[in-house]
Amino acid sequence: DERRILQYQITLYGDDERLVMARDITRLHQLEQMRRDFVANVSHELRTPLTVLSGYLETYGELSDQLPPRLGRGIEQMQAQTQRMQNLVNDLLLLSRLEIDQGGKDHQPLDVAALLNNVGADALALSDHQHTLDIDIDNVAQLVGSEQEIRSTVSNLAFNAVRYTPPGSAITLRWKAFGSGACIEVSDNGEGIDPVHIPRLTERFYRVDKGRSTATGGTGLGLAIVKHVLLRHDAQLQIDSHPGEGALFRCVFPATRLVTPAAPTHNVSS
Ligand code: ADP
Repeated sequence: DERRILQYQITLYGDDERLVMARDITRLHQLEQMRRDFVANVSHELRTPLTVLSGYLETYGELSDQLPPRLGRGIEQMQAQTQRMQNLVNDLLLLSRLEIDQGGKDHQPLDVAALLNNVGADALALSDHQHTLDIDIDNVAQLVGSEQEIRSTVSNLAFNAVRYTPPGSAITLRWKAFGSGACIEVSDNGEGIDPVHIPRLTERFYRVDKGRSTATGGTGLGLAIVKHVLLRHDAQLQIDSHPGEGALFRCVFPATRLVTPAAPTHNVSS
């Protein structure tokens, strides 16, 4: 009397013939669940030892001028690698949480313009003001979503735009009407991405150039996280890029995700 999960495939032949196939995917579903729980548990368990390690390394780092130079350099390396592991574990944990729960509890109307301005400023700081930034807002509708999740999505895309383009490149953040809904666009005029890679970019750990991505401090999970956050907002990620012509990442939200902000109430002053 255990619940089973069935997947149906219906094929139509001509006007009145149908072939119905049912597949029992209960076991597959259970395995997927186990994988998610395992990743979530491992990431969670790795956090504490990493915090302890980085705490000690910080203390040793403060003493590094009293240590022989080789040891000092070693400590710097250990700090950098520990930080990398912490980023990885945090992203893995975030991704499995996004997969496990449905979300939606913290959804509210968001001020997308303010959010883009904020994230844009962080991206410029990350690039040490080597990039130029353009913010273009032409839609007054508000997006209904999770502030934290949408912010992390835009940050992931905007930080990638900084990390994968040479200094001097231009980055644009946009919020505009699109189809019957609206979209947030993050684009750059960098080297772009070969179209063969585009369908796989949102896979976990997929990278176009592994060496370079590791050097830029990415975990390889950024776009996988973006995709999951957008799914929870009924939204889609569109990626458009051609080598040498920059890259465009467009998050498309349906009309059901938009609300018109209430007109401001005016105080009558005497
Ligand atoms: P990573 O941590 O490696 O940045 P992501 O999932 O965020 O992982 O991105 C996956 C890959 O997509 C990156 O390794 C990079 O090769 C490519 N990529 C992402 N954004 C851009 C961009 N704006 N321009 C060129 N390549 C990009």
